[in-house]
Amino acid sequence: MITMNELQSISQLTPPVLTAYVNTGPVQSLMQPPESGFIRWLKKEAATATQNAPAREQELVKAQIARVEKFLRVETPRQKGVVILSSPGDWVVVPSDQSLENELHWGRPALSQLFWLVSAHKPYCIVTVDRTGARFFDYRFGEMTASGQMDFVVDVSQWKKKELGHVTGQKVQKTRGSQRDIFRHRMDAQFARMCRDVAEQSVKQCDKNHGAAIFLVGSKRLTLPIQAAFSRQFQRPIVVFDADLKYSSLPELQKRLGPRINDWDAQRQEKMVKDLVGENRTTVVGFDETLTLLEKGKIRTLVLGQQLDQRLQECSECGWIDRSSDPVCPQCKRERHAVNLREVLPELAWQNGTEVEIVTGRAAELLRKSGGMGGWLRGRTQAELR
Ligand SMILES: [Zn+2]
Repeated sequence: MITMNELQSISQLTPPVLTAYVNTGPVQSLMQPPESGFIRWLKKEAATATQNAPAREQELVKAQIARVEKFLRVETPRQKGVVILSSPGDWVVVPSDQSLENELHWGRPALSQLFWLVSAHKPYCIVTVDRTGARFFDYRFGEMTASGQMDFVVDVSQWKKKELGHVTGQKVQKTRGSQRDIFRHRMDAQFARMCRDVAEQSVKQCDKNHGAAIFLVGSKRLTLPIQAAFSRQFQRPIVVFDADLKYSSLPELQKRLGPRINDWDAQRQEKMVKDLVGENRTTVVGFDETLTLLEKGKIRTLVLGQQLDQRLQECSECGWIDRSSDPVCPQCKRERHAVNLREVLPELAWQNGTEVEIVTGRAAELLRKSGGMGGWLRGRTQAELR
């Protein structure tokens, strides 16, 4: 699945572009029927999309739709969905492991649906540890994918030669007790280094995958020392799950860990909304107040529930957006047109470098009582920002 950075770079494609979200569904068999449902949908939508385009662009639209249709017929999609952006100069295919709502757009790249999916499902890293080694996984949309492993090898042969063997050869005979001490110290040192290695590798894996948190899974005897070995510079949550991993296959692990990760995430969201609502020096809540500060570039992290269909008015001249039904822009007095939050949110967030957190369940209910939207401000207090 695509990352937010990749999505933002796609938003820079030169319009007009055809954006097609196609829900290809699970492939039933290798022999697809000649006229799959999504091809029928595309043909039906094509007529409307072409009619709605300006007269001089209609041939262009038809050509892009033909290109998309050919692609869908030739390349049997193996994933649940695919998003295609097509123009004479660009061709971008984004496979999706999530089901999509079919959509067809002509004009600017239409990335709202992808933006929503990417914002609502943060990638995480899972590290499982047992006595034999550590395994690293990426986790997203409830799916675990293996991304690496590290075997724990304790090599004692060298110590015997260099340390213990040497010691017993001396005039002063070492007791068995002191040999045991040396052995234990060596083992402790190896264990400490192994913990540091796993922590370092976890950070690398998490950075590569843009992970929002790391889950360390295994016996606490192993996970707690590894947790302690992380560099203090690593700011994301490190969550320890106590679990016996004996003989766990990937599907079993996924089945066991998925619900625990969901519970943790629900609690994280709820705490975040409580902090947001409770702390008023560095946050803003309420739909209109938040939207205004977002447009002014003053929101670092925006938090909102799933209700994105809020109708808004956008100025055709300066781009100012608010909820008032006034047909004239309050900033530049030009004419405005209706848009909805879902359409304009990606651009607003990218322009202002704002991170977006979409909350669900109890967290969303709590936030709804405060207008359904809020955010953390850049800087320290609201007063300083005005
Ligand atoms: Zn304006």
